[in-house]
Amino acid sequence: MKESSVITLNKEALQTNWNFLRSYFKGTKISAVVKGNAYGHGISVYVPLAEACGVNHFSVFNAEEARAVFDVASADTTIMIMGSLKDSDMEWCISNNIEFYVFTNERLSSALKLAKQLNKKALIHIEVETGMYRTGFELEKIPALIKTLKEHKEHLTFRGLCTHFAGAESIANYVRIKKQKRLFKKALSSFREAGLEPQIVHTCCSAAAVRLPDMHYDMLRIGIMQYGFWSGPEVLVEYLSRHKKDVSPLKRIIRWESSIMSLKHVPPGEFVGYGTSFFSHEAMTLAIIPIGYAHGFSRSLSNMGIVLINGKRAPVTGTVNMNCIAVDVTNIPNIATGDSVILIGTQDGQEITVASFGERSSQLNYELLTRLPQDIERRIV
Ligand SMILES: *Cc1c(COP(=O)(O)O)cnc(C)c1O
Repeated sequence: MKESSVITLNKEALQTNWNFLRSYFKGTKISAVVKGNAYGHGISVYVPLAEACGVNHFSVFNAEEARAVFDVASADTTIMIMGSLKDSDMEWCISNNIEFYVFTNERLSSALKLAKQLNKKALIHIEVETGMYRTGFELEKIPALIKTLKEHKEHLTFRGLCTHFAGAESIANYVRIKKQKRLFKKALSSFREAGLEPQIVHTCCSAAAVRLPDMHYDMLRIGIMQYGFWSGPEVLVEYLSRHKKDVSPLKRIIRWESSIMSLKHVPPGEFVGYGTSFFSHEAMTLAIIPIGYAHGFSRSLSNMGIVLINGKRAPVTGTVNMNCIAVDVTNIPNIATGDSVILIGTQDGQEITVASFGERSSQLNYELLTRLPQDIERRIV
């Protein structure tokens, strides 16, 4: 995959995004969510870039991602695991001050046992179930948790109390989110009334951070926005209308670029590619690009996706193959093998955004980004 395309990350755009996030969220501490290989941007390249923008807290899904961050991050950077964690990785976490979510009694017992063995405190974030029904302790389990946390203060640090909203990006979930807010507040009070104060309280992902300012507490867990995207169109529209703006202050930092592998002239009246999904009504010139669904260019972009060549938009013709696509360059002058092809990014004032892919293929930015393979080279510009 290495030779067929390159991903570049724009440092200046990233600085713009972090400046915006800090001022918009009024200096509330932000954890940079870098699960899914930093939403496709590449953990090992992205984390040092983010640190250069002043970020010192990263959230990941599992221990493997935590190790990837750990390998490149500075010593005083905090790493927090929000999801999967095997007992076999927990020892490493505790030894290296990697913080982690606890949402089951089994994980709580393991943390306690290992903290005792290692004679080092486990830094745990208690996740509360408020209505997402994915992970988290139900409210009725809180009294037992309080007892354990109090009894084992010397082994367990109550680092955080947290929850996750089930779709704050859509107004359709308004009632459900409202109930989640209420339950979380109730959970927090239970701990406080028992004299247990978590060191930090955090509930908001990007959409919730924009929409629920009353739920910011001590830290926000920002994923998609740092990369220059909004969680969905409603969140962007809400931001723009509330602040009487007409352009997003966020900048995309990713650019995905390939080049023309070969050109193909097609006579009128032929089917192009596999099967019969594209028919040439006239003589056409196609450029073959060595990028396919194996590289994260979704098959659902067949006859739908668009790329940029010489600053002009070239539509995908026929189906996306495993390792290549054909795009129509009939009306683009001076086309040649080796010409640059923009899959995501700008060229001569034209832009291909992941969002426009998203609309066309009814997928989310999140999914398209995280599908970008780990082994495409990432460069910084
Ligand atoms: C992914 C995730 C986030 C970040 O979500 P964004 O919408 O990308 O900001 C925050 N919290 C948890 C628990 C997550 O899983």
